Amino acid sequence: MTAPLKGTVALVTGASSGIGAATARTLAAGGASVAVLARRGDRLRALADELRADGTTTLVLESDITDRRQAEAAVERVVAELGRLDTVVNNAGVMLTGPVAEAPAQEWDRMLAVNVEGLLHVTRTALPHLIDAAQDSPRQVADLVTISSTAGRVARAGTAVYSLTKFGVTAFSESLRQELQPKRVRVGVVEPGTVDTELATHLRDGVREAVARQLGGMEKLSPQDIADAVSYMVTRDRRVAVNEMLVRAADQT
Ligand code: NDP
Repeated sequence: MTAPLKGTVALVTGASSGIGAATARTLAAGGASVAVLARRGDRLRALADELRADGTTTLVLESDITDRRQAEAAVERVVAELGRLDTVVNNAGVMLTGPVAEAPAQEWDRMLAVNVEGLLHVTRTALPHLIDAAQDSPRQVADLVTISSTAGRVARAGTAVYSLTKFGVTAFSESLRQELQPKRVRVGVVEPGTVDTELATHLRDGVREAVARQLGGMEKLSPQDIADAVSYMVTRDRRVAVNEMLVRAADQT
């Protein structure tokens, strides 16, 4: 098997389930050492055991990225314990959708805290290390990938604040892409359509059922479909920057 990421270190946030867990497995299969971050330590430890059994060096970071100090400490631990940081996948996120007029303010606070502020805490701390990695690795490149959403390209009724966060991280990434291009840090977004994960289980009663009805019998994407997109981006030769990938379920409008 080829190992295009051999010798590199990746950090995946939100790795305790869904897209993040699949991405951690995929980057590990590509040869990377992987730091997995989320709040549910039991899930992370189970994943780490699995990865270590396959020979991957793994670091568990039981952290809440909405707490700036925890986020910063987690990123610094990656570099202290694994020696470098070549790839960051900003994946942790929550989707608490529903009509704006009925929405509890706490849902908006949580989406802004995780999807935007948490991502900023992780990114700011990671950037100097990504820049260093791009300079001193044989690959001469480092990667920052953010999991945005189709809701970061198209706003629909019911997704107002979630779309606000996802349009926001896409805009942030494009600006950062331009800043970091001379430093050989590639910045990209993956914009998934509907993926079969725990994401929608956090919706409040009523909204959850409405969303399920709306999706009907649609065949959803699997977390692996998105992990494959991330892997494609970060395993390109340094001449190639894939900055945006929109991946919808084929049944999705
Ligand atoms: P999951 O709910 O399965 O995963 C979300 C992950 O985020 C979990 O690992 C969770 O871990 C972590 N997380 C949540 N809050 C925090 C926090 N405060 N600190 C650290 N980690 C946190 O959903 P998905 O895998 O679907 O979601 C991953 C990303 O993909 C999200 O950004 C989402 O918006 C995006 N996306 C998903 C789509 C879908 O249809 N599923 C479509 C488009 C985009 P823990 O609870 O253990 O902290």
